[in-house]
Amino acid sequence: MKIDSKRVKEIMYTLGADLCGIASVDRFADAPEGYHPRDVLPTCKSVISFGCRFPAGTLKCQSAIPYTRVRNSVTPKMDAIALDFCIEMEKLRITCVPVPTNESEWDTRTKRWRSIISQKHAAQAAGLGTIGRNSLLITPEFGSMVWLGAVLCEEELEADLLINNICNNCNLCIEACPVNALEKPQINQQACWDYAFGDDAEKQIWCISCHKCRDICPYNLGNCNSFV
Ligand code: SF4
Ligand code: SF4
Repeated sequence: MKIDSKRVKEIMYTLGADLCGIASVDRFADAPEGYHPRDVLPTCKSVISFGCRFPAGTLKCQSAIPYTRVRNSVTPKMDAIALDFCIEMEKLRITCVPVPTNESEWDTRTKRWRSIISQKHAAQAAGLGTIGRNSLLITPEFGSMVWLGAVLCEEELEADLLINNICNNCNLCIEACPVNALEKPQINQQACWDYAFGDDAEKQIWCISCHKCRDICPYNLGNCNSFV
C-alpha cells in the first residue's frame, strides 16, 4: 500500500474538506448499470467521499438568495478540492479521478438525471452518514447541511465502518413537500426540480426556492450546528 487511509484523510482535510470517509469498491454492488465506480474507472479499488459544510443560517432566511448563492459557490469548491486531491495523489504515484460534484447526464434506461457516481450513495458507503427519506444524506456532525464530493482511487485503502440509519421515518419531510415529490421511496426528481429550481419571474433571478424537506427534518443540523 503506497498510502494509508489516515494520510488520505489528512490531505483531504488540508484541502478544505470537513468530512472524509473511504468505501471499498465492493460496496457498490447495487449501483445502477452504467453508474458503478468501475464503469467510470475500471481499475477503481476505493471511493473516497468528502463533505463540506453548508452554512445552516441560510435555512432561516426569508430571501432565497443566500441559500442559492452558497449552493452555487460550494459546488465549484468541491470540484476544486477533488481536483487538487487527485494531483496530490498523483505526486505519490497513485491514480485518482474526481467525480464532478454537480454534473448530471440523462440516463435513458431509468429516465433520470444522474451523476456518473451517486455522491449520496458514495458518502453512505464511506460511512459519512445515511440517506434519509427526504433523499438527502444525513450526517451525525452536520445533519444534511453538508455538500458532497468524491474521488475514485486505484489504491486499495482501508474502508471506514458503515453507520446506523439516522432517519427515523417520521414522514415530516413527505408531508412538507408542496408537490408530493417524496411520496414514493424514490424522489420524483422532475417534480422537485420543476418546483424548487428556476427563474423567479417577479424578481428576475434564478433561485432555489424550496428546501422544505431539509428544513423540517429533526436531524437537519447534526450535532455541530445549532441555532440556539
Ligand atoms: S426541495 Fe421542496 S419540492 Fe423538492 S422534495 Fe424537497 S420539499 Fe419537495
Ligand atoms: S423528516 Fe423524518 S422521515 Fe424525513 S428524513 Fe428526516 S427523520 Fe427521515
